[in-house]
Formats: sequence, structure tokens, C-alpha cells
Amino acid sequence: MSMKRSKNVPYRFYLSAEEMPKVWYNLRADMKEQPDPMLNPATLQPVTADDLAPVFCEELVKQELDSKTRYFEIPAAIQEFYRIYRPSPLIRAYNLEKALDTPAKIYYKFEGNNTSGSHKLNSAVAQVYYAKEQGLAGLTTETGAGQWGTALAEACAYFKLPLTVYMVKCSYEQKPFRRSVMHTFGAEVIPSPSTTTQAGRAILEKDPETGGSLGCAISEAVEKAVTTPGYRYVLGSVLNQVLLHQSIIGLEAKKAMEILDEYPDLIIGCAGGGSNLGGLIAPFMQDKLLGKASPRIIAVEPASCPSFTRGRYVYDFCDTGKITPLARMYTLGCQFVPSPNHAGGLRYHGMSPILSKLYHDGYMEAVAVEQTKVFEAAVFFAKHETILPAPESAHAIRTAIDEALKCKEAGEAKTILFGLTGTGYFDMTAYEAYLNGTMTDYIPTDEDLEKAFAQLPELSRV
Ligand SMILES: *Cc1c(COP(=O)(O)O)cnc(C)c1O
Repeated sequence: MSMKRSKNVPYRFYLSAEEMPKVWYNLRADMKEQPDPMLNPATLQPVTADDLAPVFCEELVKQELDSKTRYFEIPAAIQEFYRIYRPSPLIRAYNLEKALDTPAKIYYKFEGNNTSGSHKLNSAVAQVYYAKEQGLAGLTTETGAGQWGTALAEACAYFKLPLTVYMVKCSYEQKPFRRSVMHTFGAEVIPSPSTTTQAGRAILEKDPETGGSLGCAISEAVEKAVTTPGYRYVLGSVLNQVLLHQSIIGLEAKKAMEILDEYPDLIIGCAGGGSNLGGLIAPFMQDKLLGKASPRIIAVEPASCPSFTRGRYVYDFCDTGKITPLARMYTLGCQFVPSPNHAGGLRYHGMSPILSKLYHDGYMEAVAVEQTKVFEAAVFFAKHETILPAPESAHAIRTAIDEALKCKEAGEAKTILFGLTGTGYFDMTAYEAYLNGTMTDYIPTDEDLEKAFAQLPELSRV
């Protein structure tokens, strides 16, 4: 009874409609030790559904707090939406392999084949669906590089729900066409920090010239949601619910590899807040947790915002304005403002609590890479694979190339799977800076990091 289709792996492999996953997988159900619970910052007690209800949709709160249910059925309306742009292809990087002259087999799961240009649509559609089901009047969110805002604007247009997006100011200025896309889908876009919230005004008072940060935009979006009747806030990464929705990436990839009679020795993904990586690795990590397989798993982050590799595993706020619950995660401190590097989607001070716990317990590794090296890999990849990658995704490409070259040196034919999270058409200023040699690598000093660590919440200071 073999499901295997052929030993000749095509460039692009797509699951059939029948083979598409009908459930999301909740990684926490198989973790022997759970991530520490989020805390209510006022009481320092684990957050309850009641604490979260004013901020998030009911159904999403349930998903957030549920560490037991292994599989969640994907509602029919979401499956329907997924069919517009999924399955995403599992691509065999034959040309990259050839160019590197490596014995490694390289696969990547490409999530950039939709108008939002990234994997973020997988969770956006789910969150908007539940908001609509609850009869909400509208949603607020933040966006860094603009991919999440775009994905959410797309989903809100589909389900006919108003949306206000706080966009990190330096991205708002660097990527004017991202805002135009959001406007086209009907969203309101406000550069953050702004004068429309108390949190924004406070940050502007301290630093009127700031280019903003994700943490700061989150504060504004949450404040706006809780002060507007019938509104809730949605977040595109970090949270357990987002990793749950993104498990569609890994479930599809694993099924496709099964059919092709493959299994990865090495899984690589970029990590901003951890949602694409958490989604991609979910079913493989399940194998690892259950002792069925032991793929190496590598998170790749920018050297300018190194949460895993140089952060602390402590309780911290998810936002700069300190109004969100406290999460125990690898963090650079919620007051850390990364240099304006070009991978906007990776400029977040914290990391998914699920991935933080798995990293802390030794189930995965992490590396930090410099942006000029990342763009070198992006350009090389584009020329050989004919896809223009997002700067965020190119972090994973960098490490996949490095690992494939190690395979060449060692004469090992390993199977590598990496996540190609999106396309980079709105990042041409960054490509141009790389190509004309003006791109620099900013790496925070230990003193820079200490400054932000010193402002961690009291319970986390050493
Ligand atoms: C947002 C984004 C990321 C990083 O976010 P995660 O939550 O860590 O996945 C990576 N790649 C692209 C293209 C993105 O838009």
C-alpha cells in the first residue's frame, strides 16, 4: 500500500485536493514540558480566558490556552479560502544543488505564491474568520515590514471586516507601496508611533525622531482595540494560536515528502516571532518529541536582532508600551529597538514561547547571520532558482547554502528542507543597497543589549 508517486521528483510538487490537511496540529499536545504560561502583568498570575477576552476573539483565546487538544479541525470556510492559494509547492532546488555542486538534496516549501507574498495569510484568514463568526465590528493590528498587514487586509476584504493597521514608521516610509496594497484592500494604515494612542504619544515624547518598532506598534494596536467598541486585536506571529494555524505549512510539507519517499535530516527556517518556523517544523518536531525521528532543526535570525542566540529566557512584555501579558521567551528586552535592517519581519525583540521552550530544552539550534551575507545568498538563489526571495526568507537560504556546502566538504548526501516564506518585490531598496555596496552590517554590542536587559520587568532582572 504505497502512496509514493514516483522516484523522479519534479521541480515543483503539489498535493492533490484530497491530500490537503483538514486539521491543524497543536505542538504543545506532544511536548513533555509545557512552555511557561503567560502572566497577567498586574497580578503575575497565569492569564485566564477572561483576562484575554477584551483583547482577542473568543475562539482564538481558546486556541491560545489549549495545550491538550492535538488536532483542531480547520473550519470549512477556511479550507475553502486555503484552496484559493494552497497547497503551496514543495520545490526541489535542483539548480541550486547544481550551482553549489553539493551532494545534498535541497527542498524548500514556498509560501510566497499569494498576493500578500508570504505565509502570513495562513493565520490571517483564520483569525479574521473567527472575528467575523463572533460578530465583531472590526480589528486592529500592527505590521512591521507590511506582510502581515497586507495578509490581514486581504482576509478582511474577503470576510468584509474593517481593519486598522499600525505600521512601523520606518517601514511606512521605506515601503510606500505596501501601504497602497493595504489601502487597496480597504484597510486604514497609520504610521507608528502615532498621536492616535496614549502609548504612541508617550513614545513620541521620549523620542520624537524614532522610526518605531514592532513592540511599539503592538502597544498602539492593542490600546486602539480595547478602547473601540466591538473591536479586537490580532497578532501575526509569536502567539500559540498563530503557530497552530501555520502548522499547515509543515503538515503539507511532511505529506509531500512522504509521497516522494523523503524525510529531512535538517530543517531550516528564519525566525522573527517564530510562526513560519514553528509551523514548518511542527509535525517533524512531533516525530522528534515522540522519538520517531531526530532531524536537526535550525532557526536563523539576523545578527542585528539576535533573540535566540544572545537574548535571555525570561518573562518579558510582548510590546514596548508594557500593556500586553508577560510571556516567558527568549528576548532582547521589550525596550530593545533593533537597527533599521532590511528584514523588517525579523525585527522583533521576543520569540514564540513554544519555540523558546524547545530551544531551551535542546530540541533545536539557532544561528545569527549578517545581512550582507544574507543578500549574497538571496541574489545567488534568485539567479539559480528564478524566485526573488524576501530578505527574511533569505536568512534561511543563507544557512541552507552553508549547510549544503558543509555536506559537499564532508561528502554527505543529506536531505535539507527549508522554509521560503515569501517574495521580496517590496524590498528592492534593500536589494539595490546590497548591489551598489552601501549595505552595512549592524551588530548590537553587549552594552547595547545590557541597556535593554536592565529594563526587563522586575521579576526577570538578575
Ligand atoms: C513575517 C515574516 C517572517 C517572520 O515571521 P515569523 O513569525 O518568524 O515567521 C518571515 N518571512 C516573511 C516573508 C515574513 O513576512
